[in-house]
Amino acid sequence: MNRLLALITCAALSVAAAEAQTPLESGIALQYVDPAVRAQDAFYRYVNGKWLSATQIPADKFSYGSFDMLADEVQSQLHTIVESLQGAQNPPDSNAQKIADLFASFMDEAALERAGLQPLEAEFKSVQELRQRSQIPVIIAHFNRIGVTAPYTPQVHLDARDSTRYVFDLGQDGLGMPDRDYYLLDDVKLKQTRALYRSHIERMLRLAGDDDAGREAQEVLGLETALARVQWTKVENRDPVKTYNKFEFAKLAALAPGYDWNAYLRESGVRGRTSYLVVSQPSYITALNHLVQSSPLPVWRSYFRWRLLSNFAPYLSKNFVDEDFAFQGTALSGTPQNKERWKRGLDLVDGSIGEALGELYVARYFPPESKARMDQLVKNLLAAYAADIDTLSWMGPATAQKAKEKLNLFTVKVGYPTKWRDYSRLRIMAGELTGNVIRAQVFEYERNLNKLGQPIDRTEWDMSPQTVNAYYDPEKNEIVFPAAILQPPFFNVHADDAVNYGGIGAVIGHEISHGFDDQGSQYDGLGNLLDAPGWFTTSDLAQFNARTHSLVQQYSAYSPVPGFPINGELTLGENIADNSGLAIAYKAYRLSLAGASAPVIDGLSGDQRFFMGWAQVWRDKTRDQQAIKWIKSDPHSPSEFRGLLPEMNLAAFDEAFDVKPGDHMYLAPDKRVTLW
Ligand SMILES: [Zn+2]
Repeated sequence: MNRLLALITCAALSVAAAEAQTPLESGIALQYVDPAVRAQDAFYRYVNGKWLSATQIPADKFSYGSFDMLADEVQSQLHTIVESLQGAQNPPDSNAQKIADLFASFMDEAALERAGLQPLEAEFKSVQELRQRSQIPVIIAHFNRIGVTAPYTPQVHLDARDSTRYVFDLGQDGLGMPDRDYYLLDDVKLKQTRALYRSHIERMLRLAGDDDAGREAQEVLGLETALARVQWTKVENRDPVKTYNKFEFAKLAALAPGYDWNAYLRESGVRGRTSYLVVSQPSYITALNHLVQSSPLPVWRSYFRWRLLSNFAPYLSKNFVDEDFAFQGTALSGTPQNKERWKRGLDLVDGSIGEALGELYVARYFPPESKARMDQLVKNLLAAYAADIDTLSWMGPATAQKAKEKLNLFTVKVGYPTKWRDYSRLRIMAGELTGNVIRAQVFEYERNLNKLGQPIDRTEWDMSPQTVNAYYDPEKNEIVFPAAILQPPFFNVHADDAVNYGGIGAVIGHEISHGFDDQGSQYDGLGNLLDAPGWFTTSDLAQFNARTHSLVQQYSAYSPVPGFPINGELTLGENIADNSGLAIAYKAYRLSLAGASAPVIDGLSGDQRFFMGWAQVWRDKTRDQQAIKWIKSDPHSPSEFRGLLPEMNLAAFDEAFDVKPGDHMYLAPDKRVTLW
């Protein structure tokens, strides 16, 4: 361990070293610390207590916390950019023109009132013309193309069994509620939501002029319930081996006899670009085919009509916008009030041509020194990881060697892409909101489709730089940190290292750890999916599984909303990443001190600031309906538990805050889970 320590013992390890002339801040939001709460009993509440007591979730939000506050700041910066383009003479077909006109088309409410449903007429007409079951695959392919939810949705990504190629992957979809449980579970709250959903469908179809909307709504709900019943659970969908099912085109007929695959492959544009596709949930496709053959055609017509209305409602006249929000916002998430229109307009621009906006955002708001420091931090975390591998009691030398090989092959992306996405072929017109939305969806669909058969574009980003988030992609074995997350409370250039290691350092650790979580560890360093035990030895895999099994139990013991416990299996990968990420960030922080003792700032030791930095990142309040939605559909644990549980597994936390047996934050050694 000592010998390896030396590998990264140098002054450059300190991210804040360059600014050492002026005294550094602690970076801890002391005004939110609640001294009435014992850190040893409720650390999350101790760090965030005053904020939690004083804060009300804004009326237009379903949750509010560190991520949202930062996202609000970014949004007002984006607003400034877009406003400045509004009055300018933007060259035709430039990104600036597209941003300005897409936003303008969203803001022109009078035009939307005048247009009514007219912009969707051609779409409705093709659904009305559905007279034969063989047309259903054609409609699904078309919906895939224009971004309307359909019974299955394709994704183009790297072939998990051959990471040198792209693959077209069909995944189950088509529901209007967040998860199959909303349709199937016998629970009071979910049954209530079901009833609200039925009446929402009815009101939307009536607004669209349907005479028999009540009956239609019942039938649509029936069809979606039938889809839900044959869908895989979100836990089953986390299995990368079970969800990898390669089908040569000719073999698809056996999967769904009678389904017109030729029509689908032709309309989707896949034929001619590849000879096979991946089906994530084969049994679902088989069962869907039964529904295609057996459900009455008028029910399918109502369903497709409903899907069009629901997907486009935010871009229609006010009566549709309001009805859509009443369900999506209020019933599903508990949010009383829709966001101001300009915010929704920015969301549309961000979601449609995000990199065009991102290019302007980073030029104006992303200081280059943030990238330099971040590059250094990532290096330190990777080095801490590498040093740690040899010290793990549960991992034998053969597995450790493989783990290091994988670590060496990580790609790191920080800030923004080196090559910006080319939007030159996308047409945006000031007066055509629905047309713009459809063209942007088609553009994105074709951009992905065009990858099939082409070399892998390693410069591509899956998040825009203005996104307050980060990710790991197991198929590319890369970690990616958009510019927007490189700000306080995650990353504070004016603060001492401790809070930065507890914040962005743990975020980096989290993303690296995804490469070694229960899913990521099934891929090699080149992004190829392996069968068990993969690069583990069989006995090391058993050790790993025993530990992760304990982590499932640790999280499942908590119910953020009574009756809705955390699903420890659904959230396992993220919980592993938090658990490991925080542990590694702590080790990296200690290494950065290179044997020196950390300064005391604001009366807090370095280790105390490190853990407080972690807990303040997860400062958050969430409405109950949204909490239920996330518990049912989100692979992340609720913020409060992310900010609370990982440190309970670390002896360094107990030492930093003098946690002893009997304290609520104390976990008996046999209950602790340490992977790294
Ligand atoms: Zn994650």
